[in-house]
Amino acid sequence: MTPMEIALEEARAAAARGEVPVGAVVLGPDGAVLARAGNRTEERTDPTAHAEMLALRAAAARRGAPRLPDCDLVVTLEPCPMCAAAASLFRVRRLVFGAYDPKGGGVEHGPRIFDAPGCLHRPEVIGGVRECEAADLLRDFFRALRPARGDPSGARIDGKEGQGAALDPQGGSGPLDPIT
Ligand SMILES: [Zn+2]
Repeated sequence: MTPMEIALEEARAAAARGEVPVGAVVLGPDGAVLARAGNRTEERTDPTAHAEMLALRAAAARRGAPRLPDCDLVVTLEPCPMCAAAASLFRVRRLVFGAYDPKGGGVEHGPRIFDAPGCLHRPEVIGGVRECEAADLLRDFFRALRPARGDPSGARIDGKEGQGAALDPQGGSGPLDPIT
């Protein structure tokens, strides 16, 4: 299994837990998997529990070092600004991501964290790897949530509007959209 396939597997597992389907893997210098994770923001009641944060923290803990300069981060979705900043702080060598995230992304979109003047470390970036599969997972996830939108007792999509929401087939028409 390739690293992106492992990340996609983590994303599918996240969806099964009711989490936005994003998965991440951290690889050591020899290509071995140091850590793998999917989103757990709902389960941990922690909006920072993105797949990348969990995988980076686990990899650093496993190595007993706060920086991972010879490691690669592979993730199914373009990291948000928080996770991009974390990848820089962890000093990862290379960032590989799947789908682009025009609304929530912080690498090729939005604040473009690695291009910001204060950014001290810019990993090599490769985007669009297995892009369609990663995007399909997100589309299917948001599509499944959609019927709950009109239900005042359970707007299950609330709080899931950030990460990957641009891939929502009906994105932009949600309850948090200021226009509607
Ligand atoms: Zn993130």
